[in-house]
Amino acid sequence: MRRRTFLKNGMLGIGALAGLPGARGAFAAPEPAAAGRENRVGEPIIVSTWSHGMAANNAAARILQVSGAGMTAVVRGIMIPEADPKVTSVGRGGYPNIDGVVELDAAVMNGNTLEVGAVAGMQGILHPIAVAEKVMDESPHTLLVGAGAKQFALSKGFTETNLLTDGAKKAWEARRGGLKYKPAGSGADPDNHDTIGSVLMDASGSIFAGCSTSGAAWKLPGRVGDSPIVGHGLYCDSDVGGVVATGLGEEFAKICGSFAVIELMRQGVEPTEAIRQVLERAVKRDGRNKGRLLAMVALRRDGTVGAGSTTPGFQIAVTRGTKHELTDIAPLYPPKKKD
Ligand code: ASP
Repeated sequence: MRRRTFLKNGMLGIGALAGLPGARGAFAAPEPAAAGRENRVGEPIIVSTWSHGMAANNAAARILQVSGAGMTAVVRGIMIPEADPKVTSVGRGGYPNIDGVVELDAAVMNGNTLEVGAVAGMQGILHPIAVAEKVMDESPHTLLVGAGAKQFALSKGFTETNLLTDGAKKAWEARRGGLKYKPAGSGADPDNHDTIGSVLMDASGSIFAGCSTSGAAWKLPGRVGDSPIVGHGLYCDSDVGGVVATGLGEEFAKICGSFAVIELMRQGVEPTEAIRQVLERAVKRDGRNKGRLLAMVALRRDGTVGAGSTTPGFQIAVTRGTKHELTDIAPLYPPKKKD
């Protein structure tokens, strides 16, 4: 496994994140004391998917330093790739559905309270992760979809914006002639599966998770992947750890991928082994999953990080205190070499 160390300390000023809502609202359950969940590692740990997870971790670490608020740190971290038009699988710049419309999914989870908030198939709002947090904190619900999610966001002061960049529009136009509606599970575009997912454990041992994505490129309008579905794309429990997934959402749905990893970890299985077992389950059920991207990263409450991917190319960003590292994850099913 190749190991690379990137940014030491920040590249993003905290000013870039100022002025956004963060207060917990009327529907938020009281924060239980983290007593008995002390972080034995003694320093915050953040793990995120892909190289854009580095910028997310960096921002989250700075928020933690300033306010110590773990959920806010996860949300503000994920907002960085959401706003980056170069990231073609998340937020602005994300590839659209088959009709050329960007539809976003996101979710957050609090591992102390098991509270969740999520939005799915939401159009025209830049930061679905922040809307998901509002759903958790300021609504009696856990998941809002489509027009309802957008209406909720607007009512909370989010503004409508164009999410389709020129680059994403060109990519869609170039593919348009060849695009066909495909059945769920066939993988809309194997080249565009890069959900940002983050798990964070703060100094008190509280664990939080979040993820945000534009989903599978060229998907059917209304298609919802694993990312906004608790237990599929993310799960965390401060008594155990946290996990986030990236890759073909339809396959994670069939095995409740994130929840399955947490439950194996709860029984004492090491994080990397737990992920391997769950991905193997997907492959046993359908051998085609060997060649489809299914990847996960997990953080156990003792600070152990685990990861796994069916296919090559998966990377995880890990932040311990002020040290940031990007690590390549070896595939469980390397492609056969052609002679
Ligand atoms: N899991 C996401 C989805 O299926 C996509 C991804 O992670 O690439 O919507």
